Amino acid sequence: MTSIAQNLRTVRQKLSHTAEISQRKADEITLLAVSKTQTAEALKEAYLEGQRHFGENYLQESLDKIEQLSELDIIWHFIGPIQSNKTRPIAEHFAWAHSVDRLKIAQRLSAQRPTDIAPLNICIQVNIGDEPNKSGCSVEELPKLAHEITKLPNIRLRGLMAIPPATQDPKAQSKAFANLRNSLKELQKEQPELDTLSMGMSADMDTAIAQGSTMVRIGTAIFGQRHYSAK
Ligand SMILES: *Cc1c(COP(=O)(O)O)cnc(C)c1O
Repeated sequence: MTSIAQNLRTVRQKLSHTAEISQRKADEITLLAVSKTQTAEALKEAYLEGQRHFGENYLQESLDKIEQLSELDIIWHFIGPIQSNKTRPIAEHFAWAHSVDRLKIAQRLSAQRPTDIAPLNICIQVNIGDEPNKSGCSVEELPKLAHEITKLPNIRLRGLMAIPPATQDPKAQSKAFANLRNSLKELQKEQPELDTLSMGMSADMDTAIAQGSTMVRIGTAIFGQRHYSAK
């Protein structure tokens, strides 16, 4: 077995185990394999081990891989910062975008989404720690943005995404994730169809699951260290 296949099994076991001790069902939690900087071959190894959801951050790199792996039934998620002049390929080639943080981006994605395919699934990225210079809409702006996005025809708001402030303190981590969960709960009062909390990475997956994550974004624990040299 390859190391990627082995890592994937380990991550899945950990996910199931954490779900169980958090009294949740493992099948409520989607494992998103974050494959930025990894080769198409590496993605294929994970695919052959049953992985279907892949997350990418860099547009050109991801388009190359989408083309190389077009025979495979992969569900592609865009999770990197979205510039407004780069929305079209995201609208055309991805099933999900997790990093929408302003109305203009959502409007462009909706306008550019081909109407012969399913609506693009959207998460609003929230700057949960109110950190300066960090992407994400503020908790205060969130209700209005969510309301506006819901009116757009070719995208479907699914929930929220966050990258919490860097900390080793599990209590602070828990609190950040709980804030995101509570923000979703507030929105669900008006929009009960929202079902996604995209939170948790390799280092904090357990805490995120305990706090209600429905989608964990895992890179390093599956693929190993990233190779930035090719960029
Ligand atoms: C890179 C990245 C991840 C994965 O991080 P790991 O620590 O490698 O698991 C998750 N989410 C986003 C938004 C990322 O950019």
